[in-house]
Amino acid sequence: MSLIVTGTIGIDTVHTPIGLAERVLGGSCAYFAAAACHYVPTRLVGVVGGDWPDGHRSELEAFEGIDLAGLEVRPDSQTFSWGGRYFDNMNERETLFTELGVLEEDPPAVPDSFKDSQYVFLANTHPSVQMGLLEQFPERSLVVADTMDLWINIAHDELLALLGVIDGVVINDSEAAQLTNERNAVTAARRILDMGPQFVVVKKGEHGCILAHQDGICVLPAYPVEASDVIDPTGAGDSFAGGMMGHIAACGRSDLDTIQESLAWGTVTASFTLTSFGLGGLASLNRDVLNHRMADFQKAAGVGPRTPVAT
Ligand code: AMP
Repeated sequence: MSLIVTGTIGIDTVHTPIGLAERVLGGSCAYFAAAACHYVPTRLVGVVGGDWPDGHRSELEAFEGIDLAGLEVRPDSQTFSWGGRYFDNMNERETLFTELGVLEEDPPAVPDSFKDSQYVFLANTHPSVQMGLLEQFPERSLVVADTMDLWINIAHDELLALLGVIDGVVINDSEAAQLTNERNAVTAARRILDMGPQFVVVKKGEHGCILAHQDGICVLPAYPVEASDVIDPTGAGDSFAGGMMGHIAACGRSDLDTIQESLAWGTVTASFTLTSFGLGGLASLNRDVLNHRMADFQKAAGVGPRTPVAT
């Protein structure tokens, strides 16, 4: 089943308590695609400027499952760039700068060969760009979007319009609270359901995630990663979405059971992103490594009594 992602390709500068990574490959659709391509071939639509480093292209090309036919280079423009700093707990961060660059221009063109895509993920970018791209996939069967604080602040109405036409949303707990004025993640998720989508996934970092679906609510813990293994959480949310959508597209269905299962694949995939700066943790993945970690996760997350309550 064809999976497509559109979003940002960024030049990231990231400060963590462990160190600094300057001008590394990042961006919402880069992380998503680097995760999803381990499940299904993944089409990428994005745009960069003439300053995009050659090394970043080679890094993306090394992911065999990513189809880069939709990667546009505008030689006279600047690539989107983002800087962030993580606090000591590695769960929270502040944005130091966002230079939109090429994002302020026309959205990237979608190649004709991508227009039959059925599973569409609108990774973080301006909601009106997300809307414009969505309309270019007439055969879409499932459309899921991500968003973040910047867009909730500066493009609120466009975001509400987008929520009215998509099937699912993946969002952080703090952003869900910002969007709904509701601190409780379950209630915030329900409020977002009222805005239009059939399901909402609220990501809670090291505390896992909540799925609110028209047919019910599900919860899942995060994969237990030791503090010493967390090097850089950047892109964990995008790679969670990549593992999740990759699994859904590979199954070719999006009922509640499949979505619930896909959360576990998203969780397992994102656990690798944390372990290095940039896309390094996803580059070394393969199906065996993912299956192995899924088995560990299932053991660690095992819920429900092994013995029934005595009557
Ligand atoms: P995550 O840690 O999953 O929220 O994703 C971080 C990635 O999102 C970084 O690689 C950034 O380049 C990218 N990013 C940061 N801010 C934005 C934004 N406002 N819109 C789109 N992508 C962004």
